[in-house]
Amino acid sequence: MLRLAIQKSGRLSEDSLQLIRECGIHFLSSSHKLKTEATNFPLEILFLRDDDIPGYVRDGVADLGIVGQNVLVEAGCSQLEVEGLGFSKCRLSLAVPRGDAYAGVADLQGKAIATSYPNILGAYLAGEGVQAQLHTISGSVEIAPSIGLAEAICDIVSSGSTLLGNGLREVETVFRSEAVLIAQPHLTPEQADLLAQLRLRMQAVRRAKRSKYIVLNAPLAALEDVKKLLPGIKSPTVTPLAEAGWVSVQSVVQEDEFWHLTAQLQAVGAEGILVLPIEKIIA
Ligand code: ATP
Ligand code: ZN
Repeated sequence: MLRLAIQKSGRLSEDSLQLIRECGIHFLSSSHKLKTEATNFPLEILFLRDDDIPGYVRDGVADLGIVGQNVLVEAGCSQLEVEGLGFSKCRLSLAVPRGDAYAGVADLQGKAIATSYPNILGAYLAGEGVQAQLHTISGSVEIAPSIGLAEAICDIVSSGSTLLGNGLREVETVFRSEAVLIAQPHLTPEQADLLAQLRLRMQAVRRAKRSKYIVLNAPLAALEDVKKLLPGIKSPTVTPLAEAGWVSVQSVVQEDEFWHLTAQLQAVGAEGILVLPIEKIIA
């Protein structure tokens, strides 16, 4: 028997449940239950707050978990990671008030920065040789500058519209995250075997998910924004157009992210978006 902890209600919940279902595992779920047992695989599912998942798995209260890397790394539990699951991709970024001059991360020297991720941010700043005062707050980080609590923030950014609404500007990407499968370090041989079966199913599901090839035109000025929207791909292909100041960007995107992504790409200035089927992907 394996106990798998997933987020009870939040951004990870639906995709986590869907992944388990797509692995052919049947269970009854109801939103108010704290746990449920699968009917055709020796798996028990626990529904928890995401912040509690790394600790429960580290301590062996749960055997497996699905959680964002941002939460896992912040909790100092990155050694539990088994594999990335490809959903809930987001980034942790530094942002400053729109009107403030910002030339580089060195400008944050001595500044007060509000964040819910003091460990990840602390490590990043140390790597950049910058010393700052970190104010750890658990929510509504983006209002900190406007109420005088901090001069910059570090928080999860998806569309950037929350930042914009709070008069902030994204200046550095600190960490890129996705949902990951984690496992406690002391599985029994039987549990390790069940985990191997589960991973085979998960990998098969992911490979079968259709990817699309996306080609778009963008003004050179929007290139950084476009690249940030394609976080799954390390480096998209960028070629200049005959018209000065424009580039063509080519990348591979997951079909289930596609509509959401194209709207965001258009919002930052992308045009002429083409989506092409991919016949085979040789990994
Ligand atoms: P809980 O109540 O369980 O503590 P929470 O409010 O801390 O939930 P959510 O907002 O549900 O957390 O986010 C859960 C995880 O989803 C985050 O830790 C992150 O990994 C990921 N995530 C957050 N924002 C986004 C986003 N905009 N797009 C994709 N993934 C995201
Ligand atoms: Zn949380």
